[in-house]
Amino acid sequence: MPLSSLPENSLKLIEHRLIGESVSFKASPNTSGLFEPNAPDTIVVHFTAGSSLQSSVDVLTRVNSGVSAHFVIGRNGDIVQLLPTNQIAWHAGESAYAGRSGLNRYSIGIELDNAGQLEPKGDGLFESWFGKLYDERDVVAAQHPHQSVMGYWHKYSDIQIAKTVSLCRVLCAHYSISTVVGHEEIAPSRKVDPGPAFPMEALRKSLMARAHEQELHSRIDELAKEDGLRKENHAGRENFLPDKEGAVASVSANALNVRKGPSMSSPLLDNTLHKGEVLKIVEKQGEWAKVSFTKTGWVNTQYINDISEKLPFQV
Ligand SMILES: [Zn+2]
Repeated sequence: MPLSSLPENSLKLIEHRLIGESVSFKASPNTSGLFEPNAPDTIVVHFTAGSSLQSSVDVLTRVNSGVSAHFVIGRNGDIVQLLPTNQIAWHAGESAYAGRSGLNRYSIGIELDNAGQLEPKGDGLFESWFGKLYDERDVVAAQHPHQSVMGYWHKYSDIQIAKTVSLCRVLCAHYSISTVVGHEEIAPSRKVDPGPAFPMEALRKSLMARAHEQELHSRIDELAKEDGLRKENHAGRENFLPDKEGAVASVSANALNVRKGPSMSSPLLDNTLHKGEVLKIVEKQGEWAKVSFTKTGWVNTQYINDISEKLPFQV
């Protein structure tokens, strides 16, 4: 399932507790207390290497097991929260990333119910370390970057990945999350989770795209305000967007030339536009668009994306 086709997020974080459908809480005693201010700023994704959601929750909430996590996501999409998100969980172990060690102090841990790496047994069957057999339809063959040969990995379910994305979005909206990593990236000598069956790059891209979209919203709000003030009629964004003349685009090229007229031979304006900048489209001629930013000029439309229709404009 492409991450972009995910349903809208119905999860919410209130008072460090996740609220939503199929979410439950079972307290773990395994915590070192409250995070320092400015933490958490990192999300660490794991597989449980376990046989079921329940068995993993049991271990992670057992006194003296020495392990815990903030969330465990089942293969049916159920989410069990084990610690409030303002408390330190024990999921990272000995770990280091980007100049810091002991990542538990900075991170939210999300465990996904998954059997982990499997052994091929012939006849399309694969066995977990705890002796359960899995059909090849539930297996991904891929070489882990830490390993030298092809491995076999228990597939994540679509709903499990969708819930992981939703949960990360909620966490990113709530905390200044700068880093989303797999356990294998912060403890590369010991760990291979969440492994090559987990779409880590797609998750990061999806979260970055969402952050970028939110930034665009606030910039368009600002533009709308300025626009409203100039016109001295309505300051509302409805007045600004997105009727046919008032279409909005963002720059997709790293640097985009602006010209005085709609042609390659027309002289350049001083301004160069940069990726992500938001423009109002004033007029179109062929593959050229007259755009307004602090000035007005013409740009080639292959280097801008019309975003008027993609913006939901929720407050
Ligand atoms: Zn792990």
